[in-house]
Amino acid sequence: MKINNIFDKLPDLEEGTVWLAGAGPGNIGLLSLLTLKALGQADVIIYDALVGQEIIDLAHKNAVLEYAGKRGGKASALQADISERLVEHARTGKRVLRLKGGDPLVFGRGGEEARILVKANIPFRIVPGITAGIGGLAYAGIPLTDRHTNSAVTFLTGHGEDGGLSKDIDWDALAKSSPVIVIYMALNRIELMCEQFLKSGRLPNETVAVISKATTDAQVVIETTLSNAAEDVRKAEIVAPAMIVLGENVKLRTGLDWLGAMEGKILNADLSSIIPQGKKQ
Ligand code: SAH
Repeated sequence: MKINNIFDKLPDLEEGTVWLAGAGPGNIGLLSLLTLKALGQADVIIYDALVGQEIIDLAHKNAVLEYAGKRGGKASALQADISERLVEHARTGKRVLRLKGGDPLVFGRGGEEARILVKANIPFRIVPGITAGIGGLAYAGIPLTDRHTNSAVTFLTGHGEDGGLSKDIDWDALAKSSPVIVIYMALNRIELMCEQFLKSGRLPNETVAVISKATTDAQVVIETTLSNAAEDVRKAEIVAPAMIVLGENVKLRTGLDWLGAMEGKILNADLSSIIPQGKKQ
């Protein structure tokens, strides 16, 4: 099939409908074909702060762009307002693209918006995107799972209700049961978060990676430990958005940092020196 014909095979963003789509973690190459098609067809695009300018620039030239995210800590547009705008635009026959960073249903309130569309009887489609917890780790050269380090992973939000950590989590059980924990929105709670994991039994020298602006040209990755993470983040002046990864899998970056290798870093793929005890092969 010719590349140009691929778009003809995909569904159209119809008038009076909404696509709730993920834009991926930032890199333009990680957009899905469906999201790319919708960018070219939408009359109105309501997008979040995490969607990069490069991606917005792919919009049809007549598309109306509406920003709906937080910027510089300012209050975000109210969730109810955003959902109302989606409904109003669709009711006036517009083709509406609701574009969110990463995947719309991963810590993105996509479900809440979709429920409002259901109540309002607006036809919609959900277009998944590559979430930062998957794409970001791949760009840092950290496998989300590897049979030598973990056969389970937890995605966690660092965002509790009142400036603290989530109260509905059994931290001791989580610390015990999940060898790898990938944390979204944790940068300004990193100290609390690390203290909590130490209290819940994780070891101070356990490996931690912090991945800032993953998949973009400004990506920065630091490798640290649970006890040093908060200080190292400050020292390295790490900025949001950032993911935190806690677990032995971080060590595998030594052999898999493919972006680093492009810039001359020598990779070490000798597993026995990276994880001496991990001889499960
Ligand atoms: N729906 C999004 C997540 C929204 S929550 C997704 O699926 O990726 C916002 C959090 O996502 C940020 O605080 C950060 O922890 C993470 N995040 C999103 N994009 C990121 C990126 N390019 N680099 C690092 N972290 C990112």
